[in-house]
Amino acid sequence: MANETKLINIYRRAAQQLRTTVRRADPRKPIILIRKVIMGDINKIASDLERETKNWLVVEIPQEYKRGSQQAVADASKLGLTLDKTGFGQVHKEAIQALTEDAYLDFAAGIEGVRRAGRGFVSEIVKKKINERIVSGQLEGKALETVKKEVKQLVDDTGFTALVDRGGKHWSIDSYAEMLVRTHVIKANGEGTKNRLLSNQVDLVEISQHNSSCPICQPYEGQVYSLTGKTEGYDKAPELPIHPNCRHTYLPYIED
Ligand SMILES: [Zn+2]
Repeated sequence: MANETKLINIYRRAAQQLRTTVRRADPRKPIILIRKVIMGDINKIASDLERETKNWLVVEIPQEYKRGSQQAVADASKLGLTLDKTGFGQVHKEAIQALTEDAYLDFAAGIEGVRRAGRGFVSEIVKKKINERIVSGQLEGKALETVKKEVKQLVDDTGFTALVDRGGKHWSIDSYAEMLVRTHVIKANGEGTKNRLLSNQVDLVEISQHNSSCPICQPYEGQVYSLTGKTEGYDKAPELPIHPNCRHTYLPYIED
């Protein structure tokens, strides 16, 4: 298993720092300064995340691909099939590179969402500051407390949204990263298996069985598919993961 926890924890810590940054903002400061302080902190956290994500992916994605590849060799040998496992040629290197870059782009989109959310918080703080000053004159005492409380509430309620998905769900940066890391690890593993099998002319795979209670996966369990979709009589295999956190894998299959 890839060290998913390490990256997930980095994102959890960052999410906390991001919230603190906004909560700590002093609404009495000039608007230009509020923006500078908050966005400065957020950009620093965001670029740290970009760097750490890249560092993690370039190590873990290739390893997971290899694990998937080795798993294919092990599963095939249970069927009495010896796969050629000579090294990781150019095509495997390119596959790994493509997986790593795709993964990075997904994370980068989430991190960009953090910067956008930061800009949103700044405008909210500015709006509240102006409103309160119009109503109360000076931003001191109770008026100041009101603005601070409202800002805190806002951050607690919405967190740092990385992305709004097609279903309208707001993903906070840490839960989004957690979903991404799981998805891309499984995907790299599945591609490793798939490419190792295909380079040995094994096109048929069975989807592993875990007596899954998940309604999305259930119809696939134990069914046989064609990896390329070109073997007569078989449907094309679903891409892995079938859904986030899906643990189903490809097992080599030999026709009787
Ligand atoms: Zn599944």
